[in-house]
Amino acid sequence: MRLSVQSLAEQINDIGFQCLGCGQCCQGDDNSVVVFPSEIRRIMAKTDLDWLEIARPPKDGEWDSNGDFHTLEWRLKKIGPGCRFYQKGKCAIYGSRPLLCRTYPFYLVEGELCCSECSGLGLKIEMDTAREIAEQLISRHITEIKEAIALTERYEDFQRGNCLEGGSYVVHDSEGEHRVPRFTAPRSSPHPRSCQ
Ligand code: SF4
Repeated sequence: MRLSVQSLAEQINDIGFQCLGCGQCCQGDDNSVVVFPSEIRRIMAKTDLDWLEIARPPKDGEWDSNGDFHTLEWRLKKIGPGCRFYQKGKCAIYGSRPLLCRTYPFYLVEGELCCSECSGLGLKIEMDTAREIAEQLISRHITEIKEAIALTERYEDFQRGNCLEGGSYVVHDSEGEHRVPRFTAPRSSPHPRSCQ
């Protein structure tokens, strides 16, 4: 299916959307922003934060026979229930925020425009803004495909096993394998820091 900026922009315009700045999409248990390595590096360049201060492995994954926990993507780090970059009622990395944030509440499924829950849906949107979101949606779609291809090319399979104490996270992404310690996670975090 060929994606057209004009067609997507017209659909967004018909649906209507304005960001109310409520921060609902940046907070709460449902907030879980997938972030790609290139986006993490861009945020690193704009801040003085290191990789693990920006992103963490998600809770979904599989154990290998050495007790390491394998996952396939990164999520923006949370502090408490919200994104660590939601500070004083706004995004502290607005100009460098990930594509998922730039396109929220819209996303594409097999070329079809879909919407997540958002209080700003239905409000009047200028066509220029709708076009910008449409361009970002296509950029996100292309990035996701490129990331998936690069991940597949670099992915090395492993022997499945059961949870063991100790071990590391192994995050497979478009850059290959990142091995990071099973750091002590915040109490509310779902990270599998132990086998419990
Ligand atoms: S990066 Fe910014 S826009 Fe994205 S969830 Fe965090 S605070 Fe919200």
